[in-house]
Amino acid sequence: MLNLPIPYSTQEITPDDISAVTKILKSTFLTQGPAISALEESFATYTESNHCVAVANGTAALHLGILSLGVAAGEKVITSPLTFAASANCILYAGARVIFCDIDKKTGLMDLEILQELIDLHPDCKGVIPVNYAGMSVNTEKIRKIIGKNRFILEDACHSPGGYFIDSKSDKVKSGSNKYADAAIFSFHAVKHIAAGEGGMLTCKSEKTAKQALTLRTHGITKTNEDLIENHGGWYYEMQALGFNYRLTDIQAALALSQLKRADQMIYRRKLLAERYHESLVNLPIQLPVISENIGHAYHLFVIRLVRRKELYDYLKKQQILCQIHYIPVHLHPYYQSLGFKKGQFPNAESFYETCLSIPLYPSMTDGQQDYVINKILFLRFYFRKKLSFYSLIIPFGDLMDYQ
Ligand SMILES: *Cc1c(COP(=O)(O)O)cnc(C)c1O
Repeated sequence: MLNLPIPYSTQEITPDDISAVTKILKSTFLTQGPAISALEESFATYTESNHCVAVANGTAALHLGILSLGVAAGEKVITSPLTFAASANCILYAGARVIFCDIDKKTGLMDLEILQELIDLHPDCKGVIPVNYAGMSVNTEKIRKIIGKNRFILEDACHSPGGYFIDSKSDKVKSGSNKYADAAIFSFHAVKHIAAGEGGMLTCKSEKTAKQALTLRTHGITKTNEDLIENHGGWYYEMQALGFNYRLTDIQAALALSQLKRADQMIYRRKLLAERYHESLVNLPIQLPVISENIGHAYHLFVIRLVRRKELYDYLKKQQILCQIHYIPVHLHPYYQSLGFKKGQFPNAESFYETCLSIPLYPSMTDGQQDYVINKILFLRFYFRKKLSFYSLIIPFGDLMDYQ
């Protein structure tokens, strides 16, 4: 059974996942119990980070990250326009100013030459939120060299748990590790690598940042001062800062923890599927994802690029293959336009958007399902060769550049 339609991504839930959740439902704590700290500890080990703070979702992790790194109203923070809106929205939540750094045409990652120019142009900028687009880690060592010690790196690693890049010392720098980044964030949304329904994680280099995030996670309330409790009574607590309810439940934490146990297995499957796509689609006049020896791609998405993207999207949809587009550049959304951003301002992100298509990739995808997707894409080639020229329908990326 093929199990149609085939989504671009979906969660994989095993009997172990279900029993992990059931165990919590039968326990004392539904929220902020032992599963939270167990998840935080395991995640710190997995990402090789110093401190982890589990939160309600990836967006909450971005918000707490930016506040805990000390961003204040009116300050400037740089991020990529080719991302989910949350990467930029968190800057606005803090009352700060979004500066977009256009992307590299091929990888979809922040262009580091443009980043250098922006830093020269905005020396007062506080930090950078780079995005590990599609699962490819940005080189935070290079970003650190460009921005210096006094600005922060908050890595949006939602696409890349388990991914890494190799730094100049030949060390593997895991996504979310705090070797060069001050903090990183992850999402446990259902389509992400670790699927807990909703959920998120902030990894922090310094204890100070982590403590601040922990306080803000629960309304800015602290209950740790023994002297105050002694003076006032056992019930006593104080609200020290204007925080939020960004807590993760133990139900979600147990599910995330159970998934984390087979994270490597799931990445392995993603990589196999990606390799099969690369092998099968290599002779088509479409652009496949860039691969690099120095990057351990986590393959959150498999993004192909072609000129007639909409035709392929519609055709595959008719075949019950539900692709997705990542992303409509953030600055093109009406809200960002109302802030003064203009179409044409970030041409690389815009042309990436015009030509990208995320085809299905998820750990529970069967070989049969993938063959179905591959065959439908290959069939199109013969179909259009007969009708009109397929090559006039789908132009390779190299040629696309020449056409413009
Ligand atoms: C999913 C995602 C987010 C937001 O995560 P939520 O858990 O949905 O809030 C932020 N940035 C990127 C790049 C994402 O893919």
